[in-house]
Amino acid sequence: MTDDLTNAASIEAADQQYVMRPWPHPTGEPVIVAKASGCTITDIHGKEYLDLTAGYFVNNAGHCHPRIVEAATKQLHQVLQVSGKHGTVAVVKLAKRLIELGPPSLNKVFFSTGGSEANEFALKLARQGTKKTDVAYLENGYHGLTIGALEVTASEKYRESAGKPMGPENYAIPNAYCYRCKFGVENCSTQCLDGVEATLDARPKTAAIIAEIIQAVGGLAPPQKWWDRVDKIRKARGILLIADEVQTGLGRTGKMFAVEHYGLEPEIMTGGKGLSGGVGSLAATIASDALVKNFFGGTTPTNGGNAVSAAAGLALIETLEAEKLVDHCATMGRYFTEAAWALRDPWIGDVRFTGLLGGIELVANRDSKEVLGKGAIAKIKDGLHAAGMLITISGLYGNCLRLQPPLSVTPAQIDQFIGALRTVLNSVRSAS
Ligand code: PMP
Repeated sequence: MTDDLTNAASIEAADQQYVMRPWPHPTGEPVIVAKASGCTITDIHGKEYLDLTAGYFVNNAGHCHPRIVEAATKQLHQVLQVSGKHGTVAVVKLAKRLIELGPPSLNKVFFSTGGSEANEFALKLARQGTKKTDVAYLENGYHGLTIGALEVTASEKYRESAGKPMGPENYAIPNAYCYRCKFGVENCSTQCLDGVEATLDARPKTAAIIAEIIQAVGGLAPPQKWWDRVDKIRKARGILLIADEVQTGLGRTGKMFAVEHYGLEPEIMTGGKGLSGGVGSLAATIASDALVKNFFGGTTPTNGGNAVSAAAGLALIETLEAEKLVDHCATMGRYFTEAAWALRDPWIGDVRFTGLLGGIELVANRDSKEVLGKGAIAKIKDGLHAAGMLITISGLYGNCLRLQPPLSVTPAQIDQFIGALRTVLNSVRSAS
């Protein structure tokens, strides 16, 4: 008998039966979304959530922004898809806009379908361009779920998902996790980088360092002097910098791109997520002319730049500019930070926002910084979920509340979240 999936229960049952979701499921997830607008999503039961995930950090201007919907709809009537081999006006305009907005070191855009693929392409560019094979990545870094991107991703758990040993060409170098600095942040002279020159010198085949300029896992923003030193070290050795801006790009950190915080000029930069405006999926690998000149990319990507996604992505950028959402994001990040500290909650160890990238690190003890236990974290996540707050858990130790709403979030919505957080933290603590 066929089930026409007209009620919430049968849709959820069919989701379980037919959709592969091979990762852990916090209580209440997946949320099957019926409609979304701004920072709010509504599930098939009619329950509303404040979306502090922005559709996994994609809908930077908010869900279903009218300007994006209009641009995509217009494009739908013109041309949809022509492959990466040919072009559309929307794709050309988006490429031009990205080059205008990005750091001056970058000249050309390659379009693909997702952040992982964009990073794969970046690795190819770096290897061909330098005729070297090795790539250094930062501890705690995440660059995607395809095998090449996993090879430069730090998490052992994620790497093991590939079911094969990872190639010996890629290796980790330290990141900056200042809240848990082994040397004491008050005396920072970037001691965490002390062995890096020697490591790189022992690996003369290093083509590039790939890094999120501000790490999304835990929202880790290194101090200026940290990036200054890494940049100096890598330039002295002719090592390229691949800036992975898949999550940080398009305003998320309170600047259009995170490289702007530090004045970095990478030879390669990748982007994705919001680049499609939330319509389909679009990603970009952006590189310097010098690298692109003699580059052979193999063959053409089937979906290298869908016209509707590109039109929507352009509309996203226009919206960020017209509504001054990048500055608003920086202001809301500060507002969120103050509001979270104002809770004076004994479990809040650190509040880390750069713009609206980051969140709150929870600890059992603020002095020792002992990580809050998994059981309590799960209960906090569940409590927030029940209160209509959609978040994800992140961080190296799985103890960070990742709080990354659309950049259009209002102070009232942040207050609403903070109110729910106060209640949930108190009730989980009193029950423990
Ligand atoms: N790099 C970073 C920094 C990311 O955050 C992500 C996605 N979370 C990716 C790469 C991979 O992007 P995608 O899931 O679109 O392949």
